Amino acid sequence: MPTWTLNTEFKFDAAHFIDGYDGKCGRMHGHTYKVHIAAKSHKLNPSKYLKSADMVCDFKELKWAAAEGTKGGLDHTVLNEELPVSTTAERIAEYIHKETQTRIPDGIELTVTVWETETSWVEYTDKDV
Ligand SMILES: [Zn+2]
Repeated sequence: MPTWTLNTEFKFDAAHFIDGYDGKCGRMHGHTYKVHIAAKSHKLNPSKYLKSADMVCDFKELKWAAAEGTKGGLDHTVLNEELPVSTTAERIAEYIHKETQTRIPDGIELTVTVWETETSWVEYTDKDV
């Protein structure tokens, strides 16, 4: 079966604290988060900017979270004010996955990886791995 996998990476700066955490992560601090998104599809689609079915999806739709908070993204935000869930790296990855899915065509399998530091990251997908 033909398969395309788009890959993109971006970073954003944000503050957060982990509510209920017994330790320093429970106090407000910041990270430069790095995000990798893989978008796998067996077919190509049209997009808002290209009428012919020649892309998995627009790269820019995958990178929405890199925009400033005032433009709908997560850059320079307080994550606790943006996410309806805890701001652990696990939940941030799940949130970005869910929000990205609403911006792209059906049938694309997303894998979202979030680095909280250079040496600590989490990968999220809603498919069995
Ligand atoms: Zn933190």
